[in-house]
Amino acid sequence: MGVMDALADRLIAGDRAALARAITLVESTRSDHQARARALLTDVMDHTGGAWRIGMTGVPGVGKSTLIEALGTRLTGEGRKVAVLAVDPSSSRTGGSILGDKTRMGALAVDPNAFIRPSPSAGNLGGVARKTRESLLLCEAAGYDVVIIETVGVGQSETLVADMVDVFVALMLPGAGDELQGIKKGLLELAEILFVNKADGDNTTRARRAARDLEAALHLLAPASPHWSPVVLTGSALSGDGMDRLWDAVSTHRQALEQAGALEQRRADQQVRWLWSMVEARVLDAFRADEAVKTAARELERAVASGRLPASEAAERLLKAGTIKL
Ligand code: GDP
Repeated sequence: MGVMDALADRLIAGDRAALARAITLVESTRSDHQARARALLTDVMDHTGGAWRIGMTGVPGVGKSTLIEALGTRLTGEGRKVAVLAVDPSSSRTGGSILGDKTRMGALAVDPNAFIRPSPSAGNLGGVARKTRESLLLCEAAGYDVVIIETVGVGQSETLVADMVDVFVALMLPGAGDELQGIKKGLLELAEILFVNKADGDNTTRARRAARDLEAALHLLAPASPHWSPVVLTGSALSGDGMDRLWDAVSTHRQALEQAGALEQRRADQQVRWLWSMVEARVLDAFRADEAVKTAARELERAVASGRLPASEAAERLLKAGTIKL
């Protein structure tokens, strides 16, 4: 008891070692650690919610870590505390780079006002997302006022990250026309700020063209929010050009949402969705682990696979076979 109180106190005091230890508890698969993590989160809940939660996505090589380094050092230079978390759907490696790897953000890694944590590697994407959401709360309790959550555009990771942040930023590569075809419509629907990176040197013209093409593509989509129309920016993470425009866009987006009362609503909706996603995951885990379900499933899966039984009837029988305790 006393130990946990001490950890919560140290966390709230902004102690980095305490934050790292608390995140390790959240990431642990041990049930006693998970119970302690829940108790800790409950204890510090009153101290959460204070950060600007920013999601950032883009293909490997687009310049995510370069941009987070440029933006992050700028923000810490203004006196803000910045945390960087990552959601990596492919365990801990994508395209040779490790998301949230400190060596990719050298200056930020040694900045006393920055905290960088790589993606939790174990478990399925849902599990990784839960750990990151809880780590985000812990960072807020520790006094970080900007939390950047980095992900690559693979599978559902973008949707999951967009659902834990206040604003979702997509980094794009310069390149027009045919390259745009490859951009998933889903990403355009999620992104609230699009930043065409590497708009420097020979790429400057191509980046501007890419931005115009993106704007045209966005015009064809119905806006996802009545309070915000996505903006397209160009810039260079390498030279730092455009970091001010990017931060302005983040601030403007925030003001627009706050004025409409939509930021509070967005977070409230997110919390309720997290609640149900955790309940669903637990119920499903318990159901699948049930011995009677396992036995019935073996036979029913065979019957469905061979076409002897319709899936709907098999589902009904399987659900009835279960005797789960939660
Ligand atoms: P990530 O995989 O998305 O994190 O991309 P990185 O930040 O590791 O960048 C990939 C490569 O692109 C590195 O060699 C960077 O130096 C380079 N890069 C990043 N941003 C820019 C930029 O604005 N302009 C140029 N020319 N190169 C950049």
